[in-house]
Amino acid sequence: MSGAHETANSVRDYDAIVIGAGISGMYQLYRLRELGIRVLVLEAGTGVGGTWYWNRYPGARFDSESYSYSYSFSKELLEEWDWKEHFAPQPETLSYLNHVADKFDLRRDIQFRSRVVSAHYRDADNGWDIATESGEKFRARFLITAIGPLSAPVMPRIEGIENFKGESHHTARWPHEPVSFAGKRVAVIGTGATGIQTIQEVAKTVGHLTVFQRTPNWCTPLHNRKITPEEMKDIRAGYPEMFRRCQETFACFLHTPDPRGTFEVSAEEREAFFEHLYASPGFGIWQGNFKDILVNREANAAISAFVARKIRERVKDQAVAEKLIPKNHGFGTRRVPMETKYYEVYNQPNVKLVDIEETPIERIAEKGIKTTDAEYEFDMIVYATGFDAITGSFDRIDIRGENGLALKEKWRGGPKTYLGVLVESFPNMLMLIGPHTALGNIPRSIEYNVEWVTGVVRHAVKHRATRVAATAEGVESWTNHVKSLGVGLLSNEVDSWMTGINSNIEGRQTRFIARYSGSAPAYRERCDQVAADGYRELSIA
Ligand code: NAP
Repeated sequence: MSGAHETANSVRDYDAIVIGAGISGMYQLYRLRELGIRVLVLEAGTGVGGTWYWNRYPGARFDSESYSYSYSFSKELLEEWDWKEHFAPQPETLSYLNHVADKFDLRRDIQFRSRVVSAHYRDADNGWDIATESGEKFRARFLITAIGPLSAPVMPRIEGIENFKGESHHTARWPHEPVSFAGKRVAVIGTGATGIQTIQEVAKTVGHLTVFQRTPNWCTPLHNRKITPEEMKDIRAGYPEMFRRCQETFACFLHTPDPRGTFEVSAEEREAFFEHLYASPGFGIWQGNFKDILVNREANAAISAFVARKIRERVKDQAVAEKLIPKNHGFGTRRVPMETKYYEVYNQPNVKLVDIEETPIERIAEKGIKTTDAEYEFDMIVYATGFDAITGSFDRIDIRGENGLALKEKWRGGPKTYLGVLVESFPNMLMLIGPHTALGNIPRSIEYNVEWVTGVVRHAVKHRATRVAATAEGVESWTNHVKSLGVGLLSNEVDSWMTGINSNIEGRQTRFIARYSGSAPAYRERCDQVAADGYRELSIA
């Protein structure tokens, strides 16, 4: 690897080590190289792409418009890449990210097959000792985590899971080889954004499909289609304007809330607007709806009733339709899965929906799944059971700060951060898309996050500082600010990965505020102020 200093006991020494070669790690590498420092990216997989490398499950695709998801930092890259679909499928996205890696010769400074298992801060000289699963050891002044908010897959806690003799796959650990469903009896457990994409794809070729649903979600149509060469020309010509718009919207999507309240318009206008949104591509119905649907109960009930009606219209068997309509949360209070003929899948004679709230799974056996009222035999079980979100990827690494303090301990009861980037007692550790940062249309947030972190490192290098740390006051103030932004949001009254809940993990049954839920422009404004002020809110020495 370039630029490493090797010590006698073969510990390689860098100025910065980035964990993860997904969208954020790749861009962070690009920016840190510009500072002329020695940087290495350690990546667990065999290739770049992070989320888009691991999540190869059938039907995986963008839910944000492909072009709004691109990196925006390189005009040349924008000029030469043609998107083929408005919402690109995973293979297209992965080729895009490989193209980025080739174009900027990123692989030269990425070490693959290198899962980081520990990162310990050295109080004596303000550096980090980093070790991988294979026992390789590294040192670095800066530790930059680019490990993703949704990257630690979780299997369900179900008795007998290891006894199943057929094929089984977690969606986020999908094989690199093609998986056939033809003629097979397949079970899918989980109906989040991943499960929905998987189910609608598997249903196209499966012998028989059984969906095990615990909580139904409010899903709305994606309306994907191919991009014609002429459209691509227009999209390219509109890039500057489109990226400017993404900077201005609440969550960096092309869509942003309508300035009107749900009940400020007549019932007819409201209905027409909902119909328009339901017939429009992408997240508009969630992110571009009336301004109060996510905070006002009556407004939320109105859009929920509208989507419930659509589900009843699309599903023939009304008993099945009722099971598919969420009853314990309103529309948009969990991440809205985008679908393409998802509800119609349940009209197929070879598809069965099992409501496991009604008839819970008792155990998994050699041949299949036993619920309280039936035994099902399967050739394959697909686990679309999600992630240990936001803090999970941190918890899976033994990260220790000053005086050996474990990050997991520090964050017991919920994360505490400064701007979502730094943690008190963990000097020189900088997080990309960590807890308490703006997520939204994630590459937009990533680019900003990377640029801000690069600014901190540049500042430290320029001033020959060896220790960059968050202060206790800074962390307290930011964490309280993030908590206050969550007040009044209906989503904070609902169990989901966004509120820190995971039924499969011991101790994760109490909600906490893990996300920054203010606007992306407000987040950037705050971070820009800190930078403009010479990072005086940080302790830099
Ligand atoms: P998820 O939203 O957490 O969904 C997990 C599903 O598994 C839920 O239906 C959950 O039921 C179920 N489940 C978990 N444990 C279970 C158990 N023990 N027994 C039965 N069912 C169980 O995870 P995800 O679908 O992977 O999505 C996570 C996030 O990734 C999304 O919200 C989204 O942000 C992102 N994502 C993005 C895209 C995209 O951009 N195109 C695609 C996929 C995912 P409960 O609801 O009852 O817990």
